[in-house]
Amino acid sequence: MLALLALCGCTQNGAPGETPSASPQAVGEADATPQEIMFFAMDTIMQLKAYGENAQEGLQAAQEEIDRLEQLFSHTLEGSDISRINAGGGAAVTVSEETAQLLARTLEIGASTDGALNSFLYPLVAAYGFPTQEYRVPSEEERLRLLELADASAVTVDTGTAAVTLGLPGMGVTVGAVAKGYASQRAADLLREYGVTSALLTLGGNIQAVGAKPDGTPWRVAVQDPFSDDGFVGVLSATDCAVITSGGYQRYFEVEENGETVRYHHILDPKTGLPAYNGLSSVTIVTDDGYLGDALSTALFVMGLDQAAAYWRAQGGFEAVLVTDDGTVYLTEGLADLYEPSEGFEQVQIIAR
Ligand code: AMP
Ligand code: MG
Repeated sequence: MLALLALCGCTQNGAPGETPSASPQAVGEADATPQEIMFFAMDTIMQLKAYGENAQEGLQAAQEEIDRLEQLFSHTLEGSDISRINAGGGAAVTVSEETAQLLARTLEIGASTDGALNSFLYPLVAAYGFPTQEYRVPSEEERLRLLELADASAVTVDTGTAAVTLGLPGMGVTVGAVAKGYASQRAADLLREYGVTSALLTLGGNIQAVGAKPDGTPWRVAVQDPFSDDGFVGVLSATDCAVITSGGYQRYFEVEENGETVRYHHILDPKTGLPAYNGLSSVTIVTDDGYLGDALSTALFVMGLDQAAAYWRAQGGFEAVLVTDDGTVYLTEGLADLYEPSEGFEQVQIIAR
């Protein structure tokens, strides 16, 4: 219970009807009063909390920034850069410099993850009904046809002219795997520009810590239990970093197939076009770059444990908490001293360099 009371952020997200857990006042913060705002953007509930004299102005600027980015990156808002690219019918579409940069970086990470991050799965994501919540399972023929459209090599992004071309008829893009991490990074940077040195931003399953708690101790961020609605597998100490989780439990629908309940979740394996089932139930990335954290939480979830560990060893620049389907928690070694397991999840393995 004490551990619960000390939590400042919870990585809860996604399932329709979600409610983020309250952010109780942390132990040791009794004399510092935070400014807090809560709003709905990018398809999720966002809670931003900041301390200090510029907190209120900083939070307002942060919310405006997130709203601005949603206007650029949404795949459902008509007129957004992403919607215009998707309506482009294969012609070059001129977008904002920022969108072009975001897409260029997404292509780079797609290449470095051997295609595990693939933002051009959008036609298939839409066929499953994730954007509209009108869920269905596409036939194998439809799935394979739409998978062929997810061909990153057919895409051109010219960051000089901000022109984006999706080279195949029927192709589409979503930046749903990276937009919230990018937005939380921008919001955190803005708060720092406003002179805020202590803030915690919760954007659905994404947490971004600015500085530490007002008393100088690290923020305590819960890593959600992927097998229950309100538990957590452990708590991370976090200072000036993003803590970003992807998991099949965050958004899914279920259908009866041959007398069994089959879960279709929202993270697709670009090799098959089916939801990724590679032995992982969730992946949490800890890094000082929110965009990278969001991109990699999705990509490493697709990869599975062994490939994810190999990627971490080869690339560096981030740490990870990986929860396998049997409830074992794997930590990359940089987190060993920053993680406290919860009851029932004491099985913790360290991934060494
Ligand atoms: P996240 O919650 O950050 O893991 O992002 C998942 C979202 O990204 C999904 O809701 C889809 O819109 C999209 N998506 C699904 N599979 C992939 C993938 N393999 N690569 C990139 N984006 C994906
Ligand atoms: Mg992501």
